[in-house]
Amino acid sequence: MIAPVNLLLVAALAGVLALCVLGSLARSGMAGIKEAICANLLTLLAFGAFAFQATGAPLFLSVILANTAVALALCAYYAGLCRLVGRPVPRHFMALASGATLLVLAAYTYIEPRIGARMVAMSALMTGFMLAIAVTVGHGMPMNRSRYSYHFVRVVAFVSAVVCAARAVVYLLGIAAPQALLLPTAWNIAFMTLGVLTMPCLTLGTIMIIHDRMLADREQEANTDFLTGLMSRKAWWLQAERYCAQALRTRRPLAMLLLDIDHFKRINDTHGHAAGDAVLRHFGLLATATLRTGDHVGRVGGEEFAVLFPDLRSDAVMEVAGRLLDSVRRTPCSHGGSTISYTFSAGVANWIPGESLQAFFERADRKLYTAKARGRNGIVGPGGDADRQLLPTAA
Ligand code: GH3
Ligand code: MG
Ligand code: MG
Repeated sequence: MIAPVNLLLVAALAGVLALCVLGSLARSGMAGIKEAICANLLTLLAFGAFAFQATGAPLFLSVILANTAVALALCAYYAGLCRLVGRPVPRHFMALASGATLLVLAAYTYIEPRIGARMVAMSALMTGFMLAIAVTVGHGMPMNRSRYSYHFVRVVAFVSAVVCAARAVVYLLGIAAPQALLLPTAWNIAFMTLGVLTMPCLTLGTIMIIHDRMLADREQEANTDFLTGLMSRKAWWLQAERYCAQALRTRRPLAMLLLDIDHFKRINDTHGHAAGDAVLRHFGLLATATLRTGDHVGRVGGEEFAVLFPDLRSDAVMEVAGRLLDSVRRTPCSHGGSTISYTFSAGVANWIPGESLQAFFERADRKLYTAKARGRNGIVGPGGDADRQLLPTAA
């Protein structure tokens, strides 16, 4: 039968490996990494201190220090997890629960020495932390990404909670006689085999969550236009293809607004490129404020923007586009002490069921060029008729 001290050794090696991987992520700046590193260092300290029980070392080292390191490791891991998933860290509660448990532990070490009571106290604390971890990680689950790593942490924490609770019950009810941790009894080995791997497994899950979050951040960056914060052309296009497929499935209408800021080169030439950038950002804000959250807007070119309107037909889109043009006319962009007025021209098209996105986009683009040809500052709909109210007022 494997000796408990060997189990500690194997778990310590797993902890060292986890620390090596965490070290590689330390510079990513992701919340929770420092705490996970602390938790693993404290766990190694605890394993080292527990190992001293075999040498007859003072109880302060092999019991008090070892269990304090376990309690602090639990606090550090849980605090890191809370920060990683954006939940508040219950510092006071953790300190209170850990402090009270350690006091009980000290009492059953020095006042009335009882190994079983110590094991029950620590197992209860660990059960509480493991349940809290299982619940907290559930709060951080992403909506539209794989939840594998979150479920992994959840399952590890839940299994560990069950094992710790079982350990507390076994010694509380006297089902087994409590023996010093490093004695190779069947119960000790069973609980230790499952217990010592908890922190390495939880750390593995944390690393998976951190990797997934880093990937999500990079995807978000790649899908977002840096200047306006709207969707990038590629992300817009891919999502637009999904909307077309959805419209085909559901037979719901789908309309597109394609627009281009008028005489934008002139704005750059007159006020400078920084002012041109400010106009693009300004337009991005106005568009976001005017459109519904479900409208799919992106920057598809230098000063060109496209919006897909699920469930809307072109007449409704003409109205929305009119409101947006009105808002652009009424709200000039302020930049560096000057006020820059600008307008846009736009084309609107209804999706024809089965039509490719490319063909749909080209039809909207032709309407846009008609609007440009008609003098800009206006919107042309599917019939080719510009809404009269939207025809040029002041450029
Ligand atoms: P039209 O009314 O026919 O659309 O004329 P326009 O001047 O808007 O169109 P044109 O295609 O001649 O010029 C577009 C300009 O947009 C040229 C390019 O330098 C500028 N541009 C493209 N991207 C950016 C950007 O990110 N920032 C700035 N400041 N300018 C940009
Ligand atoms: Mg233009
Ligand atoms: Mg253009």
